[in-house]
Amino acid sequence: MTHWLCVLVQTPAHATLGSVLSYRSESLLTPGTLVRVPLGKRETLGVVWDAESAHATGEFDPEKIRSVAGSLEGIAPLSLAWQQLVTFASQYYQRSIGEVALAALPPQLRELSPEQMQRRLKRGGRSAGHSAPCPPPALGAPPLPAQSTQPPSHLHPSLSPEQATVLQQIHSQSGPFLLFGATGSGKTEVYLHCVQTLLANEPHAQALVMVPEINLTPQLEARFKARFVPLYGEDAVVSLHSGMTNPQRLTSWLAAHSGVARIVLGTRMAVFASMPQLRLIVVDEEHDPSYKSSEGARYSARDLAVYRGRLDGAKVLLGSATPSLESWHHSRPAAEGGRYLRLHMPSRIGASAALPLVRRVDMNHQPRNAVFSIPLLEALKERVARGEQSMVFLNRRGYAPVLQCAECGWKSECPHCSAFRVFHKIDRTLRCHHCGFTERVPRACPTCGNPDIAPLGRGTERLEEHLAELLADVRRPDTVSVDFPEGEPVRVARIDADTTRLKGELQSQLAAVHAGDVDVLVGTQMIAKGHDFRRITLVAAVNPDGALFSSDFRAPERLFSLLMQAAGRSGRDACLGARSEVWIQTFQPAHPLYAALKRHDYPNFANAQLKEREQAGLPPFTAQALVRAEARTQDVAQAFLNAASASAQNDMPQWAGWEPVLAQITLYPAVPMSVQRVANVERAQMLVESPSRGALQQFLSAWQVVLHATRQGPVGKGVIRWAIDVDPLAI
Ligand code: ADP
Ligand code: ZN
Ligand code: ZN
Repeated sequence: MTHWLCVLVQTPAHATLGSVLSYRSESLLTPGTLVRVPLGKRETLGVVWDAESAHATGEFDPEKIRSVAGSLEGIAPLSLAWQQLVTFASQYYQRSIGEVALAALPPQLRELSPEQMQRRLKRGGRSAGHSAPCPPPALGAPPLPAQSTQPPSHLHPSLSPEQATVLQQIHSQSGPFLLFGATGSGKTEVYLHCVQTLLANEPHAQALVMVPEINLTPQLEARFKARFVPLYGEDAVVSLHSGMTNPQRLTSWLAAHSGVARIVLGTRMAVFASMPQLRLIVVDEEHDPSYKSSEGARYSARDLAVYRGRLDGAKVLLGSATPSLESWHHSRPAAEGGRYLRLHMPSRIGASAALPLVRRVDMNHQPRNAVFSIPLLEALKERVARGEQSMVFLNRRGYAPVLQCAECGWKSECPHCSAFRVFHKIDRTLRCHHCGFTERVPRACPTCGNPDIAPLGRGTERLEEHLAELLADVRRPDTVSVDFPEGEPVRVARIDADTTRLKGELQSQLAAVHAGDVDVLVGTQMIAKGHDFRRITLVAAVNPDGALFSSDFRAPERLFSLLMQAAGRSGRDACLGARSEVWIQTFQPAHPLYAALKRHDYPNFANAQLKEREQAGLPPFTAQALVRAEARTQDVAQAFLNAASASAQNDMPQWAGWEPVLAQITLYPAVPMSVQRVANVERAQMLVESPSRGALQQFLSAWQVVLHATRQGPVGKGVIRWAIDVDPLAI
């Protein structure tokens, strides 16, 4: 008997072809089944979808409908909750459902032939070379006896009173939870406990633990493996992130999908992992902008995690020392409309319970153009003398942001972008950080021939060089030898995106810091995040003021969290904690942000920011979306957006029932993006705002159609691409 199926496929973005297509099949396949289907001349991976999507398939002509080529044997259908997650994400972020679904699956499901796939499945979810100490339970197998084996006690600290209280609340309430805990307060330990209790109590339950950056996964993996591999075997803990090879990703995905993996650790992509028995989702450093995708469906993995928790019946635990203002707002008291339960762990664990002392250096009273104030330099020297480490933080890589000719005013502009190319002294290149265009530094000014072109401003590379000069006479007292009777010279090192381009370099550089081979570490935000440096007792931000006056309303929030994170790097070693300090060099020493930072008072800062946002009508008190358009000229990009906006304002009000929705929508005029031209493409954007998220959603899904039509019309000529970004992070 013939069945008609709706199947999701990946079709080119904005193609007239929808992403839900009809196929015929001799057997009835349940929604969620992975299939191979013909599409044009090729065969592609598809997901059988529920029949309700059929309306999206357009004209139904049985004559033209092709047959499903086959299903992927041995792989169970994706769960209903997973299908609902994908449906929600595609609707909320205004992308085709096929694109979202297929992007959420490991690429090898698409790439491997049926024979290769069968061989792959025969090998099982097990990663080659590892054998499990005890076989993990397969789905449907009788449950294992309750876990009685305790891990070695050193892996299992007894809980602090704050941790115990928090865990008790997590176990007795449904959440979602916002764990607001100082760096070093033992949040990770709370996650470990939650997972452990869950796995011990429910024989098949799975937990998803997310971190913002790949760089942080090895540490997390090490802690989770140490805790859970002895209990559940090597296969019970898998990772999922974009740094893995495609075969590795498939292995992890299959292990999660089959239920063999009890714990999945991953970056934002892991929010879509197929986990049929998902019962707990942890989002660590939930405030981190990396949770927002910047291509394809621009989803927020944190927000989707909260939604997914409801679909799967999984508890959701967001954690941060500096929560996003959105989550902070959502976790206000329930009586005021809060939806998350806020849990607080203010104290750091151990003897170093004290938070670092925050010191502000008023740069108005320092020598003009000084990069390092005199007191900071002295403090750095003291640390070296005591055999302690320091970290100097500047959020700009390269040697200098611009190269300039003092004679004619030439600057190192990128010929393809509206941006300057950054001078990298190490290989004497000018590199565009937007399009990647790289050239050797010219010997003389390309305009007037003046040989004296000079760097303007300063990046980490120059800071490192400058600091090494300033500290040239300082000796490390603990390394006296025949060659160095007064001790070896001080060692300054740098970690940023430039020093860590090659795989493994970050790990080896971090290892050198841990081993004490570095006295002063210079770097970008990369070093401020999550790394557990035990011997660092001083953290300095040399020039953080820019964010105070940025046009980006989220800049203060990001600066505060970055400085708090950086502060969290210091004083982690119990014996050194008492002396640890955070130094802020600023021309605005009285600024409320720094005042709050000095008191480690995130709540005060957050509440003040929220008040400002409320008065200014900014998120989270208003919902936003951006539409971006790219074209060869700025005029074309803007004209397209303005035309689509005009037709929303002129035509849509005539649609029945739309007036009340449109009354809640504000469409702003198209403007150039802040970096207006990248790789010779002009970029424009239009902001859409509404006090109601629901109204914005309704409007966007209807306006999509208008945008598509406008693109097909005369004004759309020359538009290279356009995309909607819902809840954009940068405006
Ligand atoms: P966070 O994730 O909040 O920064 P961690 O969970 O990493 O904090 O804990 C900081 C340090 O304290 C880690 O070295 C951890 O092993 C240790 N720690 C956490 N909880 C306890 C505890 N209850 N007893 C002793 N040490 C703990
Ligand atoms: Zn010149
Ligand atoms: Zn460029």
